[in-house]
Amino acid sequence: MRKHRKKEDIVSWEENVRKVVPYVAGEQPNKPGMIKLNTNECPYPPAPGVERLAAKMDCGAFRLYPDPDAAVLVDALAKYYHVKPEQVFVGVGSDDVLSMAFMTFFNGSKPILFPDVTYSFYDVWADLHRIPCRTCPLDEDWHIRPEDYRQPNGGVVFPNPNAPTGLLESLDTVEEILRANRDVVVIVDEAYVDFGGKSALPLVERYDNLLIVQTFSKSRAMAGLRIGFCIGSEKLIGYLNDVKFSFNSYTMNLPSQILGAEAVRDDAYFRAATAKIVATRERVKGELRELGFSFPDSKANFIFASHEVIPARQIFQALREADIYVRYWNKPRISEFLRITIGTDEQMDRLISFLKDYAKRYW
Ligand SMILES: *Cc1c(COP(=O)(O)O)cnc(C)c1O
Repeated sequence: MRKHRKKEDIVSWEENVRKVVPYVAGEQPNKPGMIKLNTNECPYPPAPGVERLAAKMDCGAFRLYPDPDAAVLVDALAKYYHVKPEQVFVGVGSDDVLSMAFMTFFNGSKPILFPDVTYSFYDVWADLHRIPCRTCPLDEDWHIRPEDYRQPNGGVVFPNPNAPTGLLESLDTVEEILRANRDVVVIVDEAYVDFGGKSALPLVERYDNLLIVQTFSKSRAMAGLRIGFCIGSEKLIGYLNDVKFSFNSYTMNLPSQILGAEAVRDDAYFRAATAKIVATRERVKGELRELGFSFPDSKANFIFASHEVIPARQIFQALREADIYVRYWNKPRISEFLRITIGTDEQMDRLISFLKDYAKRYW
């Protein structure tokens, strides 16, 4: 943990330091036998072709800089999503893409808007890039209220499905927000869209101010390679590239470019793996309900659950002691919830059986 310095300890040069309160990432424990359901990673390996290619990778090529345009990856994505390569931008995870997009598109003096309960990196980037921001409260059922996004603003960003609630907004809601915001950039963060959501990608044709951001970290089982991308109008992507090439030309390393492109090519594997996670999620919903949990109807690879009697923090700690890791935030509105990533069927069985035993003490 970083220590926050007291005022009187600040020496002169420190006055010129860009001071920010960093994002707190989910912990990455590595214990034998642990069940890791805290950062929404995929429980299955990437496509078999990725392993084959990784095994015969030519390390001699590491001598050279990678392609600054990441053309193999960009082309694979353009082909898969039926857009032009000029409409695709890739980065080091979607966090990199999002941060770059904030820096590129949110330069107005009016506040950017995002939900009060959402991905907690947005306010960190706003702070880092000195972007004024305002949050719009989700309604009681955790849905976005599109009318909140009719106020004057410098841009809009929200995930769909939202995190950490898992709730999906309809494309009608997304378009309603777009229609009200033709004069700013609207970013839809689709990190979880492959688990049963509907992508706003078709709207890119009609809205040149819409940027769709996705990631290989969740549905494509490649969090460790750090691959994210976005799709938008050629104009938007052009501006993003101008900023990227003014910041760091070689963001994407060679293995990520090659292996990422291979993952995109194996669509059958991708569909099977995501379908399996969705099936497990739906089964686990029923079992959690029986144990006294309630939750918004997740369309993501996690469930955001609250127990009718047992405090979330207590369950979180008990699970942790049993080497079952889930995510908990002691924050307004969500301090009674646990975000539980969908793992393999076997991992979820172990979670459920632990919770069954644990809940017995309370009945
Ligand atoms: C996980 C996540 C991301 C970032 O993922 P990367 O690993 O950086 O690609 C972005 N947005 C949301 C909502 C996420 O949950």
